[in-house]
Amino acid sequence: MGLVERLEHADIEAIRVGRFRWRINTTCIVYRVGDTVIDTGPTNQWPVVRAFLQEREIKRVVITHHHEDHSGNLAAISRAVCSHVLAPQAGLDPLSNGVPQRLYQRLIWGRPARVKARPVPESIEAGYGRVLVPIPTPGHSPDSTCYLEPNQGWLFTGDLLVTTRPRYLRQSEDLCGMLESLRSIQKYEFDTVFCAHRGVVPSGKKALKEKLEFLEGLCQQTVTLHQQGKSAGEIARKLLGREDLMTWFTGFDFAKRNLIEACLNVPVAGMSGA
Ligand SMILES: [Zn+2]
Repeated sequence: MGLVERLEHADIEAIRVGRFRWRINTTCIVYRVGDTVIDTGPTNQWPVVRAFLQEREIKRVVITHHHEDHSGNLAAISRAVCSHVLAPQAGLDPLSNGVPQRLYQRLIWGRPARVKARPVPESIEAGYGRVLVPIPTPGHSPDSTCYLEPNQGWLFTGDLLVTTRPRYLRQSEDLCGMLESLRSIQKYEFDTVFCAHRGVVPSGKKALKEKLEFLEGLCQQTVTLHQQGKSAGEIARKLLGREDLMTWFTGFDFAKRNLIEACLNVPVAGMSGA
């Protein structure tokens, strides 16, 4: 499968690409704002991404984090389209040295080539008057970064949002970091969110708050059930339902039980309502 969808919002153009369209997180969106590209799509979609990038002059590419659906084409872009490729500081090492991939990741996204990127500066002149301010939002990955366009109230969130009601946690995700990032992002002025998987979310700030409240509520329910003597597996089934195809397909990388176990490790003092 090639191009999945073309998106536009104001002067932002984007394509959603992916080999499979099973769920929103098996496709990824490549955004073009000014003469800057945010995220690259996975390696196995390179011909479609290259065609999109060759429509206009591109002066720089930034990624929201090093995961292969966001950074997969960075090496190819730096060779064929634009050598100015930027990544969050904590993503530079995984990009240049590579990271282990599971079979499902290679099947859905392909294997990214290694690439030396430059660290993102404090503010990026993105072309045509657009500015992008990087805001670190670790949790989904240590290098996860949002990009704020302060004059427009736009926030490019990578994988910070994706869904307001997450039911799985990846083994590598840090729930405490995620909660902290969801809390701290609320202090910035923005409304429209550009999610790498959902697309344009008009009331995006509200959606991010809903996700925070859902996760905090889940933590509280988990702790209550745990105090009543329920195991993590029992709590996961009660609050999130049985593990399903997603869990089996990813070899328990994405699992409901991971999320419940992480909820048990969130300090109660860190909760907004506490
Ligand atoms: Zn990711």
